[in-house]
Amino acid sequence: MTGMPGAARRRWAAFGAGAALMIAGGARAADPFEFEWTQLDKGVWAGVRPISYNSPPTGNALIVIGKKGVFLFDPAGTPLVGERVAAKVAELTSLPVTHIAISHWHGDHSMGMHKVLEKYPDAEIIAHEFTARAILSPLNAFTPPTDEENRTTRERIETALKTGKRSNGEPVAPQMRPYYENILEHFDLVNAEIRGLKPATPTKTFAEAYTVNLGGRQVELRHMGPGNTNGDIIAYLPKEKILATGDVVVRPTPYGFYSHPRSWASVLGQLRTLPTTAIAPGHGEILRDAAYLDLLIDALTFVADEVDRLAAEGKSLDEVRAGLDWTQIEPRFTGGDPLLALFFDGWFKTPIVEAQYKIAKGGDSEDLDPPPAD
Ligand SMILES: [Zn+2]
Repeated sequence: MTGMPGAARRRWAAFGAGAALMIAGGARAADPFEFEWTQLDKGVWAGVRPISYNSPPTGNALIVIGKKGVFLFDPAGTPLVGERVAAKVAELTSLPVTHIAISHWHGDHSMGMHKVLEKYPDAEIIAHEFTARAILSPLNAFTPPTDEENRTTRERIETALKTGKRSNGEPVAPQMRPYYENILEHFDLVNAEIRGLKPATPTKTFAEAYTVNLGGRQVELRHMGPGNTNGDIIAYLPKEKILATGDVVVRPTPYGFYSHPRSWASVLGQLRTLPTTAIAPGHGEILRDAAYLDLLIDALTFVADEVDRLAAEGKSLDEVRAGLDWTQIEPRFTGGDPLLALFFDGWFKTPIVEAQYKIAKGGDSEDLDPPPAD
């Protein structure tokens, strides 16, 4: 990963090497880039990657077909996803993709979009103005793992499965085996996909709200404040009462990296007021009610309040981590599953406490031009 700035390297390490330490399971033989498609209304389809926590993370996609054109929300995390989403659109309609919106800057939602644009080159690409800046920032710089790093990762997983112990000496719980096995099964495909990633280039940006008219059907794009990132947008179909959230809502484990916990809770509170029959999260299964949003609000409020309180007492980041009592929150996400506990620790607790601690100290949890960490 030579050349990768510290922050991007850490983020990748969290998903990649963390995943490598662990690994991924599927009841299905499908590769990690295959969606299951659900029709949410006539001409409205959600593509959901089954077992959302499998490696690598790949954001869900939404297709909305109007009388004049087609809208995509979070088109594709990798090239293969892009090819498949474009093929799905072509299967559903002869109308072209006219608008694509990107929920936020994290590449697992848009770095395969170039494959959609090969088929639909005239689509307008819409994002929040912060997202457009973040895509070009050092925080988003990324270098694929080297062959040597891949070899090490693969060996570490093979050893963990063979010995029943992870590299840190912890046991490989039975729940972890399918996760690791899935990584090994698709290792070369995933690696090829990672090498084909390209940053998306928005052609239209906005600050608060933007409406896409597809002919007989409207998609409202809104930014409700900083949340998972500074530039999150959601897509809402008021007539159909369908909401797509990007990573403001992720199941079963939210991603806490560089986030804005208190404001994020407020964004979720605003989403709670929208009438919905279906909520498509950034990752994970479709929601039919707001119970999970309430759980997220509880978790984010807990983090914001408790980290602020401990930081105000002059505690260090490590002391804050040690001082947090997660017993009212964590089991509601993990149900005691050791694999989910590992994700909850690596993808939520660790990064979000760091983010809130930075904010509590008057800093920026999402510095686009971070100082080198190494
Ligand atoms: Zn994501």
